[in-house]
Amino acid sequence: MDLGLRGKVALVAAASRGLGRAIAQEFAGEGARLAICARDARAIEAAGREIGEASGAEVLARAADVSRIADVTALVDATLERYGRVDVLVTNSGGPPSGPFDAHAPAAWQAAAELVLFAPVELARRVLPGMRERGWGRILCITGIAAKQPVDGLMLSNSLRAAVTGWARTLANEEAPRGITVNCLVPGYTATERVRELAQATARREGTTPDQATARWEQEIPMGRLGTPRELAALAAFLASERASYITGTSIPVDGGWIRALL
Ligand code: NAD
Repeated sequence: MDLGLRGKVALVAAASRGLGRAIAQEFAGEGARLAICARDARAIEAAGREIGEASGAEVLARAADVSRIADVTALVDATLERYGRVDVLVTNSGGPPSGPFDAHAPAAWQAAAELVLFAPVELARRVLPGMRERGWGRILCITGIAAKQPVDGLMLSNSLRAAVTGWARTLANEEAPRGITVNCLVPGYTATERVRELAQATARREGTTPDQATARWEQEIPMGRLGTPRELAALAAFLASERASYITGTSIPVDGGWIRALL
């Protein structure tokens, strides 16, 4: 299937590793031109080089902390300077700290809101004008299963992913007449550094081992295993494509069946 991504410009946030990186690689393989970011300059430059060498794609790799408005502005400006446009935006960042309600002081809530909620809002604010002018755009927000079914011990994520989902759904309605789709990708437990860190935090809290924590998650997943980043990236490529022109306002899980809801 030709996804129609050749030559399109995709800005993928938080892409030095994990889900963001897998999505950037998938887009590069489809012939898109890329802008990617992460906080660490060396890590994102190395990722950009590796993706470019493996695919032949043009990659702009920049250090940016998406929870800082000034960084988001500079990132989008640099992308527009290089390519003149952003056709596809993938909002993504590291996850907020785990822990129950009592673990998080007001400053932790503020920082988590800046990372998880305000970052996608600010990224979208800056790419939307060009998408509206051209009457075409794709906004993909990485959320997580916590948005659909709260995960024990993830107070911040459970709260803020739901907020992002409400924002994205509302934006989808507003932008639909302009040819811009807005969808959330909902990863389940996927084998990345973040999940290894979560397994360690869970083990510390429960006095078990990271392997035991991972094994318990696997038992909750009908497919009996964690997902791979590429399995999420496949959905991203489709939702970014010409072929997904009538899909907007959705939240689509890639979770091996973890979410038990009917819809
Ligand atoms: P990860 O920790 O493996 O990778 C995160 C990436 O984001 C890295 O490239 C890191 O450098 C970058 N990053 C972190 N904070 C940033 C910031 N402020 N600005 C710019 N870049 C930043 O995480 P992942 O597993 O790829 O997860 C990505 C997102 O998906 C996270 O928000 C996570 O909570 C969510 N999620 C992941 C899973 C999973 O199982 N992996 C499940 C549900 C939701």
